[in-house]
This record gives sequence, structure tokens and C-alpha cells, in this order.
Amino acid sequence: MASRNPPFRAEHLGSLLRPAELLKTRGAFEAGKASAADLKAEEDKAVREIVNTQVELGYRAVSDGEYRRGVFWGTFFQTLEGMTEVQNPPLDIFRKYVPDVAGFLEKGGPGQSCLCTGKIRHTGKSSLVDEWLYTNSLLPADRRGEAKLTMISPVWYHLRYSEGKAYPPDVYGSEEEYFADIAKAYSTELGILYDAGVRNVQIDDPLFACHVLEFVIVVIGHGGCFRRRPRRQPRTMTACNRPVAPADSADFCSEKMIEGWDQDPTNSRTLDELLDLYIKCYNDSIAAHKDKMHFGLHICRGNFRGSRHFSEGGYDRIAIKLFQQLHVSTYYLEYDTPRAGGFAPLQHVPKDKNVILGVITSKFPNMEDKEEMRKRVYEAAEVMAKGTGQSREQALERIGVSPQCGFASHEEGNAIKYPDMINKLKLVREIADEIWPGQP
Ligand SMILES: [Zn+2]
Repeated sequence: MASRNPPFRAEHLGSLLRPAELLKTRGAFEAGKASAADLKAEEDKAVREIVNTQVELGYRAVSDGEYRRGVFWGTFFQTLEGMTEVQNPPLDIFRKYVPDVAGFLEKGGPGQSCLCTGKIRHTGKSSLVDEWLYTNSLLPADRRGEAKLTMISPVWYHLRYSEGKAYPPDVYGSEEEYFADIAKAYSTELGILYDAGVRNVQIDDPLFACHVLEFVIVVIGHGGCFRRRPRRQPRTMTACNRPVAPADSADFCSEKMIEGWDQDPTNSRTLDELLDLYIKCYNDSIAAHKDKMHFGLHICRGNFRGSRHFSEGGYDRIAIKLFQQLHVSTYYLEYDTPRAGGFAPLQHVPKDKNVILGVITSKFPNMEDKEEMRKRVYEAAEVMAKGTGQSREQALERIGVSPQCGFASHEEGNAIKYPDMINKLKLVREIADEIWPGQP
């Protein structure tokens, strides 16, 4: 049996639209016109309101909307010893064919990145725990401990850099050594979070899908294709927020990435071997805590280029790695348009794992047809049932619903208004209530 609560039947991915006042105060703070205390007061107020909103809407895995972060990846890496935030890094250290890199190169560069410059070590002080503690303190007494914390993937600052550029060669002799220290630091962070009461962690990895060759991801955005500064970005450049997943962005990942990888003479591994290394880093990072905390992985992708892709052997092989070798309990997956269809890979999700189906889009205000979404959930359940020899009802016990991504992976937020976001969250809750009446 897959463990439940978390995940819950109705979930969202963590980031929520910020109120205008908060954005204004953050802007003023960065311009030196507001104090840190002013900003904190505004954040506290906004978090209180968004926590209450989520509770009222019937959500249990409540987040702080990522309101204290400028971008979804937060501050984990930036606060590690040996990791340095660099402004305007030289462009020749990047793998130009990696989707988010290609995205930010179009804009002249990343503006800012985070790079290993020395031996990586956790300082013993968490930059995330206070976010969670405050959120948790706002929950009704009988729900304390349920708040969800989103964390950046442990492998986030690797793929973008050319081989040998992610760390200084005199610090680490191999990628294995580098990842071992990252995993150690990640585990230390999780230990601090666990001691503070955190039991539900969602790891965000918008680039993971790059390895899934037939996955077609909306790469421009969730992460790195906007500059950190200047702060005010055009809406179209915000994370996971492109109004449309254009057909060519589909090719971007699957074809240009693979082609680029194969043609890059500095790569000593295949993409597939790199995926193994990443999975090991993930598993090492959570090994000490996976039996006492709930871990979910959110990966992003856009539209599939037709369901025919699912039938290709290569995809199945990777689905097996993703669902069976990675030691997380839950997958938060994008399935927000009919074209994203193709639940076939879900047949590889083992009996003890959950899938949260992101059937509602957070990109557009248009409301999905509830009945159609219910049908999609049942369709996914059929596939998962078939794969494990369960009944559809048994498979449904391992499923929940959510928007396909956050509403504001970057503080600017998606091209969707606050009331639209509320409507979407209501819709997710209603679908969950109809499929699983009375369940959180
Ligand atoms: Zn996402």
C-alpha cells in the first residue's frame, strides 16, 4: 500500500500568486527604500492570508506560497559553504544546448548563477526552516506538522555547466565526489527540517524531464531562463508560465538537447549515465530521512508531441528508472492538456507509490471541464491498475489531483489573475471531492 496523507487528494505545487503589496515592498527593499523588517512584516502578513485561504479552500498540504522567495529554488544552494552566487558568469562555462541555458543565453546570459567554488558543506544553519515554521504556526492546532515545504533538486546546479565546469578540478576529482558532498549537505538540511517538525517535502526539478527523451518539456521558464536582476521581468519570461507551449519548444529538449549532448566532445558520459548519477544523488540525499518523511518529486513538461511517443522503448526504460529507482513516494506530474495525454508510462509506477495528476493548468485562466478531468483521472487509474495488477479502485487509492505546476515559480507569477487562481484551486478540490468523497 502506498502511504497517504501526505499526499492528499487535492494538492497544489507550492508557489502561489503574490499580493501586489508584497511585490511592492520587495521591490522597495531591493532598491534600498524599505528595511528588512518592513519586508518581513509584509511577508508575514501575506503568508498569513494565503495560509488561511488554503485552509478555507480545503487544502491540507499547505505552503507559504513561496512568498519569501524570489524564485522557486529559494536559498538552499546559495547558503552552502563552497557554493557562490556569481553575477554575470562567463558564458563559456555553460552547456548551451541545455534548455534553460539556451533560454537565458537568448537574453544575453543568466545574469546570476550559483557555482561551486570550494568544498561543499552545510553550515548547520538552515535558510528554509523559518519559512516552514512560520507557516506551520498558522495552521489549526490539529493540523500542525502538515505544512508542505518545497525544495530545489539536489542536482539543480549541475546540468547547466559544461563537464568539468560545475566545480573546480582541484576541489573535486570527479562528479561522484561532487555529488557525494551535495547529498551530504542536502541530508544535513533535511535533518534540521525534520527536527523542526517538517514531514512533507516536495522536490522541484524542472530539468529532470530532460533525461526523459520522449518527455517534451516547457523548458523556458520554470527555472533559469530569466535573469535574476533586474527584478521586473516581462510576464512571458516567468517560470512555467509561457502562455503556450509552442511546438518547437517541444523539440528543444528532446532533439536539441540530445543532439547537443552527443556533439559536445567534453561529455564523457551519455545522458543516460548522467541520469543514473542524478538518481544516485537524489537517493543519497534523502536516504537517511525517506522512512520518516514524505518525499515527492515534481517534474515539469509541456505537451507531448503525440501519444505515439509513449510506445517507444526508450521512454519505457526511463519511466522505469524514474518511477522505480528513484526513492521518492510521490510524483507530481504535469498532465494539463489533452495533448499531454498518454498515461502509458504510469503503468510503471509501483504499488507503493503515488501519482498526483496535474490535470488543471496553472498557465491560463480558462477553466477545465470538470467531467473531462474526472475521466482523465479514471483513465490514469486504469493504466496504473493494469501495470500493477490492481483494480481501478485500488489504483485510485494512489492518485490525487493538482494544478500542473505552481502559479508563481517566479515572484512575478503566471499570466493569470488572483481570482482565477482561486477558481482553479477550487476546481481541483471539487474534482478530488467528487472522486474521493470525504477524503482530504
Ligand atoms: Zn513545475
